[in-house]
Amino acid sequence: MTQKKVVSCPTCTKLVPWTEESLFRPFCCERCKLIDFGDWAAGKNTIAGESVFPDEEDSIGKLQ
Ligand SMILES: [Zn+2]
Repeated sequence: MTQKKVVSCPTCTKLVPWTEESLFRPFCCERCKLIDFGDWAAGKNTIAGESVFPDEEDSIGKLQ
């Protein structure tokens, strides 16, 4: 299983491969990272959060 993970830059939504080479992941570049940090300083929470998997929660409910 060597499926490559790809995330979208929180600032510009550009797709970023989740690899060692992506130094600024989940951002596509240092600029986007700094822009996001600027938003934090301005009081805007721009973190989208982890992906939610409703299916997982559903299967837990069936384990009774
Ligand atoms: Zn970006």
